[in-house]
Parts: sequence; C-alpha cells; structure tokens
Amino acid sequence: MTEDLLRELDLLREFGFTHLDIHESTTDNRQPTTDLLGELQRIVSACEKCRLSKSRTQVVYGVGNPNADLMFIGEAPGRDEDLQGEPFVGRAGQLLTDIIKAMKMTRDDVYIANVIKCRPPENRNPEQDELDACRPHIRRQIEIIQPRVIVTLGRFALQSLTEKAYAISDVRGKWLDHDGIKVMPTYHPAYLLRNPSAKKEVWADMKKVLVELERGSDV
Ligand code: URA
Repeated sequence: MTEDLLRELDLLREFGFTHLDIHESTTDNRQPTTDLLGELQRIVSACEKCRLSKSRTQVVYGVGNPNADLMFIGEAPGRDEDLQGEPFVGRAGQLLTDIIKAMKMTRDDVYIANVIKCRPPENRNPEQDELDACRPHIRRQIEIIQPRVIVTLGRFALQSLTEKAYAISDVRGKWLDHDGIKVMPTYHPAYLLRNPSAKKEVWADMKKVLVELERGSDV
C-alpha cells in the first residue's frame, strides 16, 4: 500500500468513516475515453441494423486519438477500407493524410471516422435508411471523443451528421454548430482527386480550423 493511500485512509478515519465501500471511489471514476470507444466498437462491429451488414467484409469503425481536438468525418468505406478495416486508406485517404500533414499533424493526432460504417456495394451512394441506421454510431463517437472541431468531408457527412439538407456549395468554409462543437464543412478528398483546383478552397478551410484550434489552446 502506498504512503498516499495510507494518508488518505487516515484522513477518512478522522472524518468518521469506519469502513470503505470499494464500489464507491472518492476519485474521478469516469471511464477513460479509450474504454468507451472500445465498448462502442464491439457493439458497432456486430451491427446488423441495415442491409450493408450483409455485404461488408468488416465494419470500419474509426481510428486515431481518442482525445483528439480535431475529428474528420467522411462518407463511407470504399473497397480498400472495407478490406483493411480502417477509414481513408485508399487514394482519397492518401490525400486526406497529406492534408493532415500539411496542417503539421499526423493521423494519430486526429480522429477519423465515417457517417456510414459499412461499405455500400460498388461504392454507391448511401441510402437514407442506411444513414439513419448508422447515425447513432457517429453521434456517440463524437460524444465520447468530444473534439473541439469537426471537419465534415463532402455532402453526405455534413447532411447526415446535422440532419439538415445543406448544399455544400452554400456552407463550405463557414462555421456551423453541432451540439456546441464547431463544424467546418469542406469538400470530400475524392472530389479533390477529380477537381484538383478545389484544393485551394479546402486549404483555406483548414487554415480556419488551425486558427480555431490555436485560439482554443491559449485559454
Ligand atoms: N471515402 C470516405 O468517405 N471514407 C473513407 O473511409 C474512404 C473514402
């Protein structure tokens, strides 16, 4: 038994405690973020709430820092992600990794996930009932991680998270709010692969994100 613990027991005795209920901690007994994310991952990995569970190789849950200040949210896994079980590892993923590097961070500093956890066949667009079935998973991930800033990548991520029919062209680069968390909508990296000239707009959005993260770290 450590000296600190003995001192604490003496103190408790002085306060009149004659026995200790070991199920009640006097310290912070909230579960660590990593455990909560792990528990959720076990639940999501067994999810069969929509038809995508039938065709997936595996659930693509999310990766990165469980205490990240910055979270990137994409649409759905593609072929590479379905095979490897990790979001954004294909061509679009390489571009996202480059964007994160340009922000002077690594994939391990941020958290990366999708609004849809299972690959839609032939990479078709997610259907509304699939988005509705999967939404609780990403919302819970956000609740657990509590990032300061969320970057949504493309239309589906933005619309599904917020449940609003935003046009990406109207709101890209403008701060939105999700339950008190700042949301920066930007283009999907797959769109940038087809339209490289839009990279400068995404970089302008990421600069706003960096200013916001920097601002918060001063206080
Ligand atoms: N596109 C996405 O939206 N998510 C991925 O994980 C990969 C590609």
